[in-house]
Amino acid sequence: MVGKYQSLLRELPAVDRLLREPVLEELLQRLPRRVVLHSAQETIDSYRRRLTDQVGAEDAAGRIDLSPAGLALEAAAMAEKKAGSNLRALINATGIIIHTNLGRAPLPEAAVKAMTSIAENYNNLELSLESGNRGSRQEHLEELLCELSGAEAAVVLNNNAAAVFLALNATASGREVVVSRGQLVEIGGSFRIPEIMAASGASMVEVGTTNKTYLRDYEAAVNENTAALLKVHTSNYHMIGFTAAVDTEDLSTLAHKYSLLLIEDLGSGVFIDLNKYNLPAEPRVQDSIASGADLVTFSGDKMLGGPQAGIIVGRKDLISYIRANQLARTLRVDKFSIAALEATLRLYLEEETAIKEIPVWRMLTADKETLNKRARALAGGLSGIFGTDNVFVAEGISRVGGGALPMAELPTYLAAVKLSGGGIHPAELVEKLRRGDPPVILRLHQDTLFFDPRTIFEDQENALIEAVRIAFETDGN
Ligand SMILES: *Cc1c(COP(=O)(O)O)cnc(C)c1O
Repeated sequence: MVGKYQSLLRELPAVDRLLREPVLEELLQRLPRRVVLHSAQETIDSYRRRLTDQVGAEDAAGRIDLSPAGLALEAAAMAEKKAGSNLRALINATGIIIHTNLGRAPLPEAAVKAMTSIAENYNNLELSLESGNRGSRQEHLEELLCELSGAEAAVVLNNNAAAVFLALNATASGREVVVSRGQLVEIGGSFRIPEIMAASGASMVEVGTTNKTYLRDYEAAVNENTAALLKVHTSNYHMIGFTAAVDTEDLSTLAHKYSLLLIEDLGSGVFIDLNKYNLPAEPRVQDSIASGADLVTFSGDKMLGGPQAGIIVGRKDLISYIRANQLARTLRVDKFSIAALEATLRLYLEEETAIKEIPVWRMLTADKETLNKRARALAGGLSGIFGTDNVFVAEGISRVGGGALPMAELPTYLAAVKLSGGGIHPAELVEKLRRGDPPVILRLHQDTLFFDPRTIFEDQENALIEAVRIAFETDGN
């Protein structure tokens, strides 16, 4: 058996021979030689393995095209893939606005411009242009953050996990921090309040029960070793029924009565009143500060709609202390994020501008009529591919995602494609779209594909239709 396939091994072309195939000769003109060479080698090797592998050999030998032209085509596809980017822009048709797997918040144009300019030029990252002396990278952001939040001081770190960690490490290491059992959350699998607390060196004292915690529970836990009370916004889950939590104002009164700190982890950085836009309320940064929290932490790339960053605003003495912490440098924010964050925060100085210019807010506040029109337009394009009988517009729900507003259901209109009757398998089409160029990520429910215009940018609509056409029409469908 094996011998039969091994004789085929002699038919495998050598690398040199493969590289003389026109398709690879053409690639050598535009891709790095090593990429084409390695792809040719890997392709030949993979066939050699299949032919010598007793299990797969029979199957392989029956179907393999061992001609140089056939192998060259495969090597060419591999080389194109190797030469392309791994991290790629894609089209998010899921309707989930802040999708951690999809890079969270797409940046406002002003932030992109600021980032590019800082990236390709020298800049005053740590130089005071006024005095000519050494400056702090934090100064570029602090004034804006104080203006928007009402806090005395601010510091920006790599992400919110770092912000919570450092706030605890700097203010409560070796001492106790009191937190409600209902707020011991896990965010995205690797951020868990108990673990972060342990890593920070603070001892966690849990109070209350999963569903109810009262002010007296906190008070009973206070002793001479207590450093702070921690309030965590349960940003990615919602408890209903018989529940009680203590609000920030009462917690701050209690904390200050015993000369303790109140630290509040908000998760999402919201500065805008969501009720105004018929969205469920989400605590705002300025409200926490006004209610007396000493330190408030939040992410830059959730509802704030900016780059990845962790922001701490609060009391000046505490912020100075955090900045001076040895670990601050290991968690520090880079110049690109500073540039993007500064530009994003500036947009918040005028609420109307923020809503209009920050993609996350544009998507959050998109009006139903516009979504309906866009869903119809998408359906029109899709009908050209799948036929009008299989395409329709449906009412549906978009989500905020990213551990924010877990209960919020944003009514939307979806362009839908029902795949029935023995054509391409729906899951296969979803995979082809994900592997396409640009990749398209969408929702599949049973045999129907759903495209939510809320998270598809208007200038992506044509590319989307084209990507769907290619995915559907290649491979003989
Ligand atoms: C998202 C979140 C974090 C973690 O923020 P990252 O910026 O992802 O590190 C921490 N706490 C809460 C409450 C969150 O919602």
